[in-house]
Order: sequence, then structure tokens, then C-alpha cells
Amino acid sequence: MTEVTRKDFDEVMVPCYNPMSIIPVRGEGSRIWDQQDNEFIDFAGGIAVSCLGHCHPIMVKALSEQANKLWHLSNVMTNEPALRLAKKLVELSFAENIFFANSGAEANEAALKLARRYAVDEFGEKKSKIIAFNQGFHGRTFFTVTVGGQAAYSDGFGPKPGDIEHIPYNDIQAFEAAISDDTCAVMMEPLQGEGGIIAPTPEFVQTVRELCDKHNALLIFDEVQTGNGRTGDFYAYQGLGVTPDILSTAKSLGGGFPIAAVLTSKKLAKHLKVGTHGSTYGGNPLACAVAEAVVGHVSQPEVLAGIKEREAMFRAELQRINAKYPIFSEVRGKGLLLGAELNDDWKGRSRDVLVAAGEEGLLVLVAGANVVRFTPSLVISPEEIQQGFARFEAAIAKLYTL
Ligand SMILES: *Cc1c(COP(=O)(O)O)cnc(C)c1O
Repeated sequence: MTEVTRKDFDEVMVPCYNPMSIIPVRGEGSRIWDQQDNEFIDFAGGIAVSCLGHCHPIMVKALSEQANKLWHLSNVMTNEPALRLAKKLVELSFAENIFFANSGAEANEAALKLARRYAVDEFGEKKSKIIAFNQGFHGRTFFTVTVGGQAAYSDGFGPKPGDIEHIPYNDIQAFEAAISDDTCAVMMEPLQGEGGIIAPTPEFVQTVRELCDKHNALLIFDEVQTGNGRTGDFYAYQGLGVTPDILSTAKSLGGGFPIAAVLTSKKLAKHLKVGTHGSTYGGNPLACAVAEAVVGHVSQPEVLAGIKEREAMFRAELQRINAKYPIFSEVRGKGLLLGAELNDDWKGRSRDVLVAAGEEGLLVLVAGANVVRFTPSLVISPEEIQQGFARFEAAIAKLYTL
């Protein structure tokens, strides 16, 4: 095999990423090892994807069994893993019908197209406005990146999809002013991830739901990051007491195998008639077999309860370290989607913390310049948590002496 190094990245890859200097080659549980066999503890989980850690025996078994049976058909035929997974997602949620896609952006693209089609069919062309929120993130296709609330990501690609309005998250007055009978849909994350780990207030989500009902607008919850147990409920909406009309899920759904899904009611789903939407890979048997195993494991009550226990450990460790080396003003989020906001003295330095942690053998994430984000495996062991935080403490201590 050809030997490759990080230098090759700059030679042969499109430069839209700036990856770390290490190249991991294998993983087990919440540990990975790089080309030089350096060990890292993983509090990043591939950005809230590796929900059972790396190479969990349940996933390896499901993947290899399916790999010996059948890989791909296309949607000219259906397949057993897709049907079983869809039944499972129906059982675990408000949904009656499922559409499978391959990534979060694609699931959101389908959700938005479904909302627009429903509005056109039922109310006419005029009902096309989509309300979304500043700092929201919904993926990188042109429609989803435009619905996302960071113009920097959608500018510079020519004319954008239209009739999309952004307002501040948690701003009830701005929402009341924005919504009308011309509103087709509201798209929101039930806990903003990329935008800095921002939870909605209970009054805000209640109001959004009520006004969507009043104006016949659809409520789309982007649960790409929050879904599949991440917040301690199987879906975040279940902990909010507000049910969306359409829900998108991806990231943790396949535990590392690319797959996504749109969940909705039969009443809405029937508007995507034969030929209106589709995907070559969507519902691929390999992906669905892995997701079926992942969902079956994560949805068990004792696994969901374990996520809340691990959240408590993360919060306690962060508090302990912060008492010794004050660096954070607040720890927020839910379940194992946690963000630690840097205090005024450390403002803008989340990337420095990420790099320092990496040097001590710990992988963490950021969510903007002021928040260090943790999205580990949902089944990370107490030992891995403790060792990880020992490394985190060493990293912070080092930053303190600089
Ligand atoms: C990651 C993410 C997406 C995009 O998912 P991809 O699989 O990268 O397309 C969309 N919405 C939210 C909330 C996300 O966190």
C-alpha cells in the first residue's frame, strides 16, 4: 500500500478542511490510535456520530453479516433492513412514515421540499415562506445552507433559494412578527449545536408550536445532532413536550455509517408521490442494517438512563477542573451534547483549548470561538471519562502557565 501522510492532504484534497496533524488508523471504544500509535481519548465522537464508540461489536456484527448478504439495490426494490429500521423509528417516535437519505443535509433538503410541496398542494404557491434562526445549522446543500443562519456559509455561490427569513433564536416577539398565513414552515434545532449549544426556552418552543398550528405552518425539527439518544431522550422533542410535524435525523443514527432519515405523518408524506423525490443510496441495506443495530441498542431504557449518568460525570469533572483553573463561565447543553463557554479572560480561545487537549491525547470539539463542545460516545466508560478529564486538566494547566 502507498504510504500517506498529512502532507498529502494539501496535495490531493480540495482545501475546504484544515484537518489536525494526526492521522488516526484504528479505534476501539472511546480510544483511537494514530499512524505513530499515539493513543487519544475521544470526547468528540466524530461530531456526535460515533454514539457507540469505535468498532462496537454490535455494529461490526451487523455490518459484516449484511456485507455477506446484500449491499445495494437502489429504490427500484425495497429491502428487509430498511423496512425493519423504518418500523423501529415509527415505534420510537410520533412518525408514521419514513424517508431514508444519506446525510443530515439531504434529510433536511427532503424535509424542506416536503414542506414546500405540501403547502403548494394544499394552500397554493403563495405559502412559501420559511422561517429559520440565526446561528442555526442545517447542512451544506444550497437550500439547507441558505436556511441555516450563517450567511458566511451561503454567500458567494450566486443566487440563493428564496423566501427564507432568519430571526433570533428564543425571541418570541420576533417570531410573532415573522409568522403569517404565508409561512410554509419553521425549521429549527431543538437545541442549537454548531451555533454554540443553545437550548430553547420552554415558552419559546411552546409559542412556536402554537403559532405554527394557528397559521397552518409546518414545524420541522432538525434533530440531526440531537437525535438518537444524544440528549438522553431518544429524540430531543420528547424532552421538550413539543412534537414537530417533520423531523430529520442523521449523525448518530448509523453510529459512523452514513445514513439519515426524515420522519413525518402519513398526512404529509402522501404529498411526496412517486417520482417527486428520491435517492440512489437512500435506504441502502448495509446502512440500514447497521442503523437497525445502533437504534436497537441506544433506545433501550438502561442505555438512555446511562447517558444522563454520563452527563452528570462530565458536568462534575468540568466543575472540578474549573474550580482549580477558572476558564469557563458556564456549562450548558443536555445529555452528551455539552458546551463549556469560555469566560471573559479566555474569550475567543476555544481553538487553543482544542489544540492543547490534542497535545495531551484528548479529542474535543469547539462550537464557535467561545465554546468547547463535548459529543462523546453515548456508552463511553467511566474510566475513559476519568482518564480523558485527567488529560483535559493537564491541557488547561499548561495553557494557564503559558
Ligand atoms: C451536522 C448537522 C447537519 C448536517 O449533516 P451532514 O450529515 O453533514 O449533512 C444538519 N443539521 C444539524 C443540526 C447538524 O448538526
